Amino acid sequence: MSAFQAALEAGDLAAIRATPKADLHLHAIGSGNRDFLRERTGRDIAPVDHVLTSMDDMHAWTGEHLAALFQGQGRALAYEATFVQAVRDGVTRVEVGADVWEITHYDNQAQPVWEMLQAAHAAGGPDVEWIPQMAFSRHCPFRALDFWMTPMLELGVFQTLDLSGDEFAQPIEVFAPLYRRAKAAGLKLKAHVGEWGTADDVWRAVEVLELDEVQHGIAAAGSPQVMRALADAGVRLHICPTSNLKLGRVARMEDHPIRALVDAGVNVTINTDDVLIFGSSLSEEYLALHQAGVLTAAELDAIRLEGLS
Ligand SMILES: [Zn+2]
Repeated sequence: MSAFQAALEAGDLAAIRATPKADLHLHAIGSGNRDFLRERTGRDIAPVDHVLTSMDDMHAWTGEHLAALFQGQGRALAYEATFVQAVRDGVTRVEVGADVWEITHYDNQAQPVWEMLQAAHAAGGPDVEWIPQMAFSRHCPFRALDFWMTPMLELGVFQTLDLSGDEFAQPIEVFAPLYRRAKAAGLKLKAHVGEWGTADDVWRAVEVLELDEVQHGIAAAGSPQVMRALADAGVRLHICPTSNLKLGRVARMEDHPIRALVDAGVNVTINTDDVLIFGSSLSEEYLALHQAGVLTAAELDAIRLEGLS
């Protein structure tokens, strides 16, 4: 048995933290380390203590608790705090970055966004392996995304593309031309889908956007056919269990659909989404899944290694 498996069996959170892990699904504005932010700003941000019922609900919470803190120069602090969180939880690889609209804070220039991200990495966790990501918000008009994306792509530094926000804001087909451009530029393609939507929505997004990976995608567990297609295509799902609970997508950790996905041979990883909002670190996510009897220590260790591969 590996040290990580022994740590899970013993419920030893410190030992789980000490083991290398990858977090491949997180958003910088909601992923800062709580203690670090309190030390820096004097403000304590307690995680949500109830189930949020919609993305609007979550955006309202974020607006109330985080917006003022991360305005203007504060944005750099959010990114730095994200790398600090990784260091303090033993996360050795993170895939995170900026929404393309971030350039509107810098006269539509991409270079200052990149410099801000680099500075945050250097200050918060230079030893953390960082996979720079650019992202779209699903409610933004095509033309705006196209305009903002261009200078970000031209920098040639971003390795992955994500799409997040309200899954029902616009049809997935809207984004296909933008994903073609990103693919031509060599980016790995991801999108948030199947968190609020259906199994068919997951598969349609994979086909239309030619996704390599899916953020959430848990609705796929409702369809053996979609799970088989995901497994056959080798599409990896980046799953965030506590986020699913706090957004009312899954009633109890014991019932988390990651079990069905693993049983169907779908490639999955375990991630945090927004630790500052949901209150569960990556180490705690692994422990919670083990303690709820959803996955064995050996399965969780295999998933951990998958994220690092
Ligand atoms: Zn997410």
